[in-house]
Amino acid sequence: MSRFIEERLGRINEYVPGEQPQDKKYIKLNTNESPYPPPANVTEAVGKKEIEDLRLYSDPECRLLKEKLAEIYGVKPGNMFISNGSDEVLNFAFMCYGHKGASFADITYGFYIVFAELYGIDADIIPLKDDLTIDPADYFNKGRLVVIANPNAPTGMLMSLADVKAILENNTDDVVIVDEAYVDFGGESALSLLAEHDNLLVVRTFSKSRSMAGARLGFGIADEAIIRDLEKIRYSTNPYNINRITQITGLRALENDGYFMDNCRRIIDTREYVTEELRKMGFFVTDSRTNFVFARSDDIGGAELYEALKERGILIRHFSIPRIRDFNRITIGSREEMEIFLENVREILAKKE
Ligand SMILES: *Cc1c(COP(=O)(O)O)cnc(C)c1O
Repeated sequence: MSRFIEERLGRINEYVPGEQPQDKKYIKLNTNESPYPPPANVTEAVGKKEIEDLRLYSDPECRLLKEKLAEIYGVKPGNMFISNGSDEVLNFAFMCYGHKGASFADITYGFYIVFAELYGIDADIIPLKDDLTIDPADYFNKGRLVVIANPNAPTGMLMSLADVKAILENNTDDVVIVDEAYVDFGGESALSLLAEHDNLLVVRTFSKSRSMAGARLGFGIADEAIIRDLEKIRYSTNPYNINRITQITGLRALENDGYFMDNCRRIIDTREYVTEELRKMGFFVTDSRTNFVFARSDDIGGAELYEALKERGILIRHFSIPRIRDFNRITIGSREEMEIFLENVREILAKKE
């Protein structure tokens, strides 16, 4: 830190992304990326012309993307906000709506607390129940921004739509963010509640179910007034937040959306298989509705399993947060990758006996 930084900012505990090692080739099951590449029409979308056109600014309105997304989700383009990864919608929403404080779970997406610190927002951190689920009543009438990841991460667990609805109905004077980064892997979207709830902001991303984490593309869906708030922040920070390559590849991806939804089904099948195999080995595994599993074993510690697998060229995610330090979060890769993962876990456990 230099001696010039504002003291409050110097004290922030910044977000720590999962490892992206460049040294050797790992089986990468640590950052919830897709094992499947984007389809051919996306690969073919960028040629010499698109590269030459990089001399031009991108469309600050992201008009084509908004229209296509609106069509897919049955809303108006005016209900769509396009962002540089979904982290950016979340960032802007904390900036806009965090002034009275923010409520979110103790075990959830790690960026919420970072945004709260960044903007000096009073964080009301609500523990998950012992079974790692959320009690919706804990979020009623908070008088502040409410943020729910549904399905939640890193637990993978889903809250019912009835519970989400109850939270919306008991916070009518505050914005409720429902972060649906993983909803395509078997969640129930809150989008159907949009028409009746002007306080709902649904957040989505291309990073998980649409195989485009590196493109940095996310979006928010909400009442037009909320979208106008977020646009005000965007035009006050970075109006060209979505680069030309991301706009064109994102659009092509949506023209082939069935491809991604087929991949999601494949990942769901593999997830169910991995869950069952881990349970056979004695692991406790939550009921995940995401592209990862969250698992713990009485036979090996979370950090120990993480290290042993890393040694063998397999990366998973371990969090040193006391409440979940016995767990690991394991992204669902291809079936082949998961067979290798499972075989290695079996060997590691056998060696311990
Ligand atoms: C991955 C993730 C995000 C952020 O994804 P982007 O790559 O920024 O779109 C947001 N919320 C949750 C719960 C996530 O897991």
